[in-house]
Amino acid sequence: MNRCTRRMPIPLTLLLLLVAASTSAHAQTPFVMGGVTAATGTLASGNLRVPGGTGDDGTVIPFTVVHGSRPGPVLALIAGTHGVEYPPVLALQRLRASIDPRTLSGTVVLVHVANMPSFLSRTIYYGPKDGQNLNRVFPGKRDGTLSERIAFVLTSEVIDRATHVIDIHCGDGNEWLRPYSYWVVTSAPAVVASSKDLALAFGLDHIVIDTERPNDPAASVYLANTAMTRGKAALTAESGGWSRTDEESIARIEHGVEGVLKHLGMRTDGPPPVAHPVWLGRNEVLRSAFTGLLYPMVEPGQTVAQGTIIARVTDFHGRVLEEIRSPFAGEILYVVATPPITKGEPVGFVAERAPGIPEIK
Ligand SMILES: [Zn+2]
Repeated sequence: MNRCTRRMPIPLTLLLLLVAASTSAHAQTPFVMGGVTAATGTLASGNLRVPGGTGDDGTVIPFTVVHGSRPGPVLALIAGTHGVEYPPVLALQRLRASIDPRTLSGTVVLVHVANMPSFLSRTIYYGPKDGQNLNRVFPGKRDGTLSERIAFVLTSEVIDRATHVIDIHCGDGNEWLRPYSYWVVTSAPAVVASSKDLALAFGLDHIVIDTERPNDPAASVYLANTAMTRGKAALTAESGGWSRTDEESIARIEHGVEGVLKHLGMRTDGPPPVAHPVWLGRNEVLRSAFTGLLYPMVEPGQTVAQGTIIARVTDFHGRVLEEIRSPFAGEILYVVATPPITKGEPVGFVAERAPGIPEIK
């Protein structure tokens, strides 16, 4: 009998099959994104291409994939959704260097600048080509405006492939802000629960309970809400603002991501979740009824009474047009702190402490 063709005893065959199965279940396969392949235990960078449309040539979205040596969650970190929000962009540059793929479980996708047209044109709120707010056009359209096409690429190439999503903002170029995050409570209970844990792990000590996000995945409007309506835990975090690049705001974001990596079991080390956050319930973006010059009268973090003047608006000859007052007692999370103001635009954001947190059911 030829030894090579001799049948293996059945128990040994089974054993080898089991070993093979368990090896494949625990092996990381390469992660391919935007035509770039990140092998196990390495990182790779590239650009997602946003195709051109009517009146523009499209744009690119630079990204890095940090692909761990063991399987685990796929955490997407997105910076630069708005054009003049720098600490998130700079924090991701640092995290690209500090997250070691060899000791990482799972995969971190860093979107370095989500909204390149707005970033390079230094436009607040709105894209320079279409005048749209990228964080209001999700899930986007394949053949829409430039902002809608950017949203479509982010949805299909990043959010759809992630298990957890953090959209990292700060006050835009005109907004003076104290750090906080949003916990959206309108999605499926399991997603709401895991998103709460994500907010606690990120560590910002003020958390706005957001009860007003749509739950239709076809009209999700906001980036983080796009993830949640697709069944993924998500968070919008805010740290920094007013066009600044201060160390404190950047480090706070790095610290937040490190807390999330530990919470998700992607790294063994990391800071603990915030123990006693301030939960904020009723909240309102206050807006100007006039176009003119804005004079802020409060600072972020300031406690205000009902009726406290948040800002004054004058015309271009100094005549007072409006005093914008807080509709309820609360804390100022951001105030617009540069003079130009256009009718209908925000002047500040006030929120009231919540009596408790909602039951998840
Ligand atoms: Zn923003």
